[in-house]
Amino acid sequence: MKRETVAVHGGYDTDPTTKAVAVPIYQTVAYEFDSADHGAALFDLEVAGYRYSRISNPTVEVLERRVAALEGGIDALCVSTGQAALNYAMLNVCAMGSNIVSVPQLYGTTYTLFAHIFPSQGIKVRFAESDSPDAIEKLVDDDTRAVFCESVGNPAGNVCDIEALATVARRHGVPLVVDNTVATPILLRPIEYGADVVVHSLTKFMGGHGTTLGGAIVDSGRFPWTAHPQRFPMFNERDASYHGLIYTEHFGPRAYIARCRSVYQRATGAVLPPLSAFLLLQGIETVALRVERHVDNARRVAEFLRQDARVAWVNYTGFADNPYHQLAQKYLGGRACSLLTFGVNGGLAEAKDFYDALKLVKRLVNMGDAKSLACHPASTTHRQMSADEQAKAGVKPEMIRLSIGIEHSDDIIADLDRALAAAHGCRSPLLAAE
Ligand SMILES: *Cc1c(COP(=O)(O)O)cnc(C)c1O
Repeated sequence: MKRETVAVHGGYDTDPTTKAVAVPIYQTVAYEFDSADHGAALFDLEVAGYRYSRISNPTVEVLERRVAALEGGIDALCVSTGQAALNYAMLNVCAMGSNIVSVPQLYGTTYTLFAHIFPSQGIKVRFAESDSPDAIEKLVDDDTRAVFCESVGNPAGNVCDIEALATVARRHGVPLVVDNTVATPILLRPIEYGADVVVHSLTKFMGGHGTTLGGAIVDSGRFPWTAHPQRFPMFNERDASYHGLIYTEHFGPRAYIARCRSVYQRATGAVLPPLSAFLLLQGIETVALRVERHVDNARRVAEFLRQDARVAWVNYTGFADNPYHQLAQKYLGGRACSLLTFGVNGGLAEAKDFYDALKLVKRLVNMGDAKSLACHPASTTHRQMSADEQAKAGVKPEMIRLSIGIEHSDDIIADLDRALAAAHGCRSPLLAAE
């Protein structure tokens, strides 16, 4: 079925017991065993079923099936946040002494996880000079366990050449892990271009209403773990923490998610609450419609900003002269994402004046809400970085990041005009004439 249909129906058939059409919220911690033997079979993973909601829950499982189907993956694990998803996705293939090779354009907290938290656990992250496949390949060595990128960087807006990065990763026998939060599977499905694992912050466009945190890890089921037994012993050797089970033997192509669930989710518990899964499922039902409107509105806003003398620059991959335009054409089908950045003419002071004057567009750190949102990365998401780190992450002092919502574009543009007037003392001649 097509993505629009999967978004509405994926992963759920009418509940057999109650005939409930909406996905029921299974607000329960535990599930009763028929007998001691039944309990034992569940613990040995010999029969399907539930035992404790830290490991799995029927409501969360519907979300897992739906997100996996949307991304074209074979299995998924949903967790409490996008950050938890990133943490588990990477830990699942790493051990002390291994490294990850990453593009430099990252979400601020992901950068912190990679640059500061993983190294303290003995996992190094090597940041390439750029997102080019050559720059990535230079850093891959025998200790590399994954290549990482954001399909569309937040907030840099770069579009990664996933097919080429997947080729590099495959050549070196490591998986390509892609954060697909900004693009969503409506615009891009990285697995179709060779990505092995896809990670999401469901908090953003997927949930879509700024109400609920959540994360997902989706496995393509295609990475040949058994072909690299020394590099990935965790999938090929007996797991002492799970009565000697070998993940690839027991779970075949589903080994990656099975281990993520039975090692990390079970032992460290970044669980997605069933109510959150329900709210995220509600959001996902309309994700295709919303993304379409987000994309159309963003184009109108980008065009307005581009002709405005109070604006220094606009970074929007929908423009033919954008360095990532060709990649956006290929990977997003010409539908540039609704996350865009621009520079307020002047600098830091003018950017802050603009930011403070917004009325309709919300000042906050989030994106992918139905509401239009603005963020000033230099003073918020990326403020813990040095000027040099900021520059590498594509953050400038005068830069405003907009996440364009699904309101009427006239109202969004009027608010931006009003705020630009507050920073520069004049309205847009285009709108003033109306
Ligand atoms: C927001 C975001 C995250 C983190 O997600 P949370 O759900 O807030 O933990 C990770 N990656 C990207 C690209 C994001 O935009």
